[in-house]
Amino acid sequence: MVVTRFAPSPTGYLHIGGLRTALFSYLWAKKNGGKFVLRIEDTDKARNSEEATQAILKAFDWLGLEHDGEITYQSQRDEIYAKYIKQLLDEGKAYKCYMSKEELTELRETQMANKERTMYDGRYRDFHGTPPEGVEPVIRIKAPKTGEIIVKDGVKGDVSFQAEDILDDFVIARADGAPTYNFVVAIDDHLMGINEVIRGDDHLSNTPKQIVVYEALGFDIPAFYHVPMIHNSAGKKLSKRDGATDVMAYKEMGYTPAALLNFLVRLGWSHGDQEIFSMDEMIHLFNPEDINKSASIYNTEKLDWLNAHYIKNTSNDTLAQLLTEYGLVLTSHDKREILLDTLKERAKTLQELVLLVNEVLTTPHTYDEKAVKKAFKGNAIEVLNKFGAKLSSADELHLPVDYHKVMESVVEEMEIGFGKIGQPLRVALLGKLSGPGLDEVMSVIGKEETMLRIANAMT
Ligand code: GLU
Repeated sequence: MVVTRFAPSPTGYLHIGGLRTALFSYLWAKKNGGKFVLRIEDTDKARNSEEATQAILKAFDWLGLEHDGEITYQSQRDEIYAKYIKQLLDEGKAYKCYMSKEELTELRETQMANKERTMYDGRYRDFHGTPPEGVEPVIRIKAPKTGEIIVKDGVKGDVSFQAEDILDDFVIARADGAPTYNFVVAIDDHLMGINEVIRGDDHLSNTPKQIVVYEALGFDIPAFYHVPMIHNSAGKKLSKRDGATDVMAYKEMGYTPAALLNFLVRLGWSHGDQEIFSMDEMIHLFNPEDINKSASIYNTEKLDWLNAHYIKNTSNDTLAQLLTEYGLVLTSHDKREILLDTLKERAKTLQELVLLVNEVLTTPHTYDEKAVKKAFKGNAIEVLNKFGAKLSSADELHLPVDYHKVMESVVEEMEIGFGKIGQPLRVALLGKLSGPGLDEVMSVIGKEETMLRIANAMT
């Protein structure tokens, strides 16, 4: 069974890059009928916070990305890690290193003076003497000194690392007993049954170290997929300014979960030239082998385009549900249908949709000056008066076509073009010349409100 994972460090909010690898991992597990598990890497007590963990879970909840089983918290697993440290010490695969801070500094300085790489020199690797007093040892793993470590990567192919370049016997437990990052990741991935690791390629340099741990403990090595970074349009790593912010900020800006997930799946992965993917399609089509080898480019217009697409194609019931999150409550009736049908074509975000709805539903108090000048020329007042009179004598009108007929009869009787009524009416109803279809606006606000707005505009 395929088991993938998302393993965030709760140091801040969930950001776009993290969410993308989480999505890839989620899709791959679902496609294979496997499991997608969550591990909170909260061992850095100074930088981690419960708030950040909650923010990550909240974002997952908003996006509908469910993880399987219980969440694993690294901070609760000290005993497990201690057991493996002891095992490696007992087997002679790790050792206590008593090098003092002073010795370490001295070694560094000498290496630097000789223009050598600064790395631990293995002086306690085979130490059997009496330990020096007053030094709490760190635990180092016996890493291979020569040869190469090959990371078999599903995206990048085989990536070879020279043991002597990177693997000085790295520390697996600090002097206070705290296990180190690469050590616990390898143990957790193994114990959690994770066999496919999809993560950002900023972790690629950690992978050979994790492989050393896997090998020392006799664990199977999972398949790795290191996903290239997301860049901005200038080709630089995505920064906060480009949108690498808290995923929940996308909710605040009015993006729908479907659009954001669709946007993310296309950052670094493609299927022909298809752009629109439902969740089912993503699950069906995604394969980490198809992840692009080069960085992907974050493009806000694309996200807006997708969001507009999803808003347009979301049922009014669902849309109304989503809009409640933005403080807009629309109860279900015919007018809601007309309102949303006409406005959802015009909104790039849910926030915009809220504005558009409010524009229609609120009696204008100010009028765009230019629009007034342009629209109230010639016999505009007379036209509006006539329209108002016809409305007041008509029975309650319900559909856009009913209103359209009244407009038509004014146009015919007065022998004027449609613009001659459309423009002043638009300014009267909405305070400006842009906006949705007038027939729809009137049928939503109703006859009384339409007449009120006309009267207001003429005083
Ligand atoms: N905790 C790491 C991070 O948030 C991810 C570790 C991993 O995926 O192996 O960057």
